[in-house]
Amino acid sequence: MYVFSCQYSQNKNKTSSNKKQNISNKMKKTEVEWKRSLTDQEYRILREKGTERAFIGKYDGHFEEGVYECAGCGSKLFQSETKYRSGCGWPAFYDAIPGAIEEHDDNTLGMRRIEITCSKCDGHLGHVFNDGPKPTGLRYCVNSVSMDFQPGKK
Ligand code: FE
Repeated sequence: MYVFSCQYSQNKNKTSSNKKQNISNKMKKTEVEWKRSLTDQEYRILREKGTERAFIGKYDGHFEEGVYECAGCGSKLFQSETKYRSGCGWPAFYDAIPGAIEEHDDNTLGMRRIEITCSKCDGHLGHVFNDGPKPTGLRYCVNSVSMDFQPGKK
């Protein structure tokens, strides 16, 4: 069991942006269809809310220019210019592309955290914490497995 943490894992308040939204153009698939379209590892994280081991993800130390997309549906999630070195062992961003992410209270594992999911396919991405850098003060802590990278300018 691996859990996003670092020395700070408390979130006392919901973060200001990206509140839950009612978006009608969701990508809906059955579990059988998801199993068919994802690798076992992607399925475990995106559909079963798993967490990859710290420091081994393919995008943890990855700092090329481009866009990070959802590995489940291809939706654009994060711009490379918002990625920073958090030292936590998972890719971290201080902001998300507007509308790309939804937030959910997550009180599992004895912690109060805010889960982040893809707005389009509801795939689990990771969690968002209030200990990020300026200008947002947020840390979107994301599994590498949940994302694909498209190099180049936006
Ligand atoms: Fe998605």
